[in-house]
Amino acid sequence: MAKILDGKAVAAEVRSEVAAEVARLKDRGIPVRLDVILVGDDPASATYVRMKQKDCDEVGIESHSHRFEADAPQEELAALVEQLNGDSAVSGFFIQLPLPEGLDPLALLSEIEPAKDVDGLSPLSVGRLSIGLPSLLPCTPHGVIQLLRRNGVEIEGKEAVVIGRSNLVGKPLAQLLLRENATVTVCHSRTQNLPEVARRAELLVVAAGRREFVGAEYVREGAIVVDVGIHAREGGGLVGDVRFDEVEPVASWISPVPGGVGPMTRAMLLYNTVQASRAAG
Ligand code: NAD
Repeated sequence: MAKILDGKAVAAEVRSEVAAEVARLKDRGIPVRLDVILVGDDPASATYVRMKQKDCDEVGIESHSHRFEADAPQEELAALVEQLNGDSAVSGFFIQLPLPEGLDPLALLSEIEPAKDVDGLSPLSVGRLSIGLPSLLPCTPHGVIQLLRRNGVEIEGKEAVVIGRSNLVGKPLAQLLLRENATVTVCHSRTQNLPEVARRAELLVVAAGRREFVGAEYVREGAIVVDVGIHAREGGGLVGDVRFDEVEPVASWISPVPGGVGPMTRAMLLYNTVQASRAAG
């Protein structure tokens, strides 16, 4: 039976460390403030922003949202990015993705000052990560690393397989695992013999965005399995990319959905905001 990588518990630990650091920074007169740019009326994006602001309230981080209609001109958003870059009261900010059709997210991300890039997704932050310079780390991949580390799971020297190569999760996660001295294979939709490649993994991270598609045939006996996927379950609740009930008896550690990587992603945004604030103070 696998041990559970309990993201809820680890995220609570991170949040309490963040809250203590926020209090210390405030005592020293250093502002801790997170701003978000939200464009359009996508209900999922609005929900995510509300959750992130609630998280901020809980740890004492001030939060502000800048809302725009879906047809907002690119230049107006770019002007706000420039303004937030230069505002010393703002520790960090992010653009809630995806943006509505017609806007160029990469152009906007490219304008974010790396010191304030709390999502860690701008080309400069990504480049800094890949050549080993200090940077704010993308929240989901960093959340995965923290979830493993804080459970005492050794990464160094492990054969790691990441399923998924998105800019949001798979690629930065591969970089972070390399930084942790794992031997990393990245799989994607054109990978041949995926179950066979996945079975090489001592550490298998699944971020393919395919509902419950990884079963026991993908998992080596005793592997550590991290499920990044999130999908709404028919009739309510969430499921991941991994068939938990089938994989759990084979794995040594496994992250559940919900309660695994999701809470870690949210906690790492708060962590990054404090880091940005500390670096500026
Ligand atoms: P994406 O769709 O951008 O990328 C999916 C990747 O998986 C692609 O690189 C693709 O090549 C690969 N892939 C797709 N089908 C495959 C297959 N059959 N075999 C092998 N590889 C395949 O998705 P994403 O943004 O990286 O997100 C992945 C999943 O993680 C989604 O379910 C998303 O909702 C979830 N997610 C969760 C969190 C969190 O906080 N837990 C954060 C971000 C994303």
